[in-house]
Amino acid sequence: MAKYRGAVCRLCRREGVRLHLKGDRCLSQKCAIEKRAYPPGEQAQRRSRRRISDYGIQLREKQKLRRTYGLLERQFRRYFQQAARHTGVTGDVLLQLLECRLDNVIYRLGFASSRPQSRELVGHGHFTVNDRPVNIPSYQVRRGDSITVVESSRSCPPVVAAVAGAGGRRLPTWLQIEGDAMRGTVLSIPTREEIDTQIQEELVVEYYSR
Ligand code: SF4
Repeated sequence: MAKYRGAVCRLCRREGVRLHLKGDRCLSQKCAIEKRAYPPGEQAQRRSRRRISDYGIQLREKQKLRRTYGLLERQFRRYFQQAARHTGVTGDVLLQLLECRLDNVIYRLGFASSRPQSRELVGHGHFTVNDRPVNIPSYQVRRGDSITVVESSRSCPPVVAAVAGAGGRRLPTWLQIEGDAMRGTVLSIPTREEIDTQIQEELVVEYYSR
């Protein structure tokens, strides 16, 4: 998967909100948004002083959501198309599909300290789903799936640090940690209320429905 290689704090500053792109590290360091509460780059600063159109509002909301999950436009659009084909409220289904990505679930379970780190750990084969190795970050988890840190990775420093640091984070109600904190279960597919995000997903739907 292609990666954004610039400074991630610039993305938060561009959107004007804390997207927590560094995961747990955002809690322990001074946030760039507080230090420089304006968008990066002269052009963006000029644009931010103008009145923003409805299209601009929808675009920014879409970018916030896409950047939160670290996806490329092409991948994100595919999630939207998939959500639009489902029965149910498209915005809710879109959030569910994003939230049920394996890399996100591992971050939410506290086995990684950020989504980018989670993606890397998944790619390196540190986890199993229902006791089968899975190294695809976009893998969609289902209700009842059991996600485990493989035995040989339990002393892997990033995993150990993430598990130790995850105590300060709230575990979503749709997930459960078991036993030695190295195994988690998906209790259910999250409802909109259970997905911790400030995103107005209806604006994202409007953006793609133009
Ligand atoms: Fe965003 Fe975290 Fe950087 Fe703050 S510290 S700007 S929340 S990535």
